[in-house]
Amino acid sequence: MVVVNLGISFSGKNLAIKYREDIKLFVESRKLKGLSIPCLATILVGGDGGSIFYINNQIKLCQELGILSEKIILEENISEEKLLELIETLNEDHTVSGIMLQVPLPKHLNEKTIVSRINPKKDIDGLTDVNTGRFYNGGKCFIPCTPKAIIEILKSQGDSIMGKHAVIIGRSNIVGKPVAQLLLNASATVTICHSKTVDLKKICREADILVVAMGKPNFITSDYIKEGAIVIDVGTTRLNGKITGDVLFEDVIEKAAFVTPVPGGVGTVTTTMLLKNVCEAVDLYVY
Ligand code: NAP
Repeated sequence: MVVVNLGISFSGKNLAIKYREDIKLFVESRKLKGLSIPCLATILVGGDGGSIFYINNQIKLCQELGILSEKIILEENISEEKLLELIETLNEDHTVSGIMLQVPLPKHLNEKTIVSRINPKKDIDGLTDVNTGRFYNGGKCFIPCTPKAIIEILKSQGDSIMGKHAVIIGRSNIVGKPVAQLLLNASATVTICHSKTVDLKKICREADILVVAMGKPNFITSDYIKEGAIVIDVGTTRLNGKITGDVLFEDVIEKAAFVTPVPGGVGTVTTTMLLKNVCEAVDLYVY
């Protein structure tokens, strides 16, 4: 890999603008034709700081782009039965085109059961088994928004992903695993790391592309980085009242070719990808 520049900063907003313009035009043209307007329903159980920050940004952006939105924040101790009833209501509601259930859910709720009840045609973050199966089999599906955003960011750098060694820290169903699949689809050589990985630092130092999705603020320092690497920081943890990434930005930017900031990086593009999926969902639900 030829390193031209070190320390390029990235603005998620600049990348997202192009997609946002398309979304705005799409919504406006539906309004003019008297067609239904895309509507996003977001469900959050409990009050996790990082998630509330993310959802509030989502709602604000919906308003800017003309998309309708419904924010549903539920008590941490809500019963499974009540949550399933709510999902059923949103499934049946013809004005709702996309349902976003913020995961992970509190321990007393069976996430698998609850997610499986979302109508796959409204499952805009690709969480249901139907969408997941299609995703890993290469079928038509909703691609999970954060992984989709990560790939868009990498493509925006103009350097091919093909043949690069991509290391991902994290193996969750919503970030780590789908990112690995998308990078594999783009012909990267992929290594997935997790909390039981031996000698994490050594593996990270071999990465041309390092995707960090751990939820451990400021964990990754420059000694984890190969000179000239592309570093994507997915982490969003509220630390001392501030949303903080997994990468110690000021340290790593000195050595990497490119680092996504937190906030203003992956999350910003993710929100836009989600609204893109809401628009794609608007005509899927047949009523
Ligand atoms: P998660 O389900 O908690 O997964 C964290 C992963 O990190 C796990 O696979 C875990 O390994 C691994 N890990 C934790 N500590 C480690 C260590 N010391 N060494 C190596 N691996 C370690 O989290 P997630 O849902 O994927 O989210 C990760 C972060 O991204 C969170 O901060 C979350 O808020 C953020 N996030 C941001 C966006 C966005 O759009 N910006 C979207 C989703 C999530 P094990 O599997 O072995 O436990």
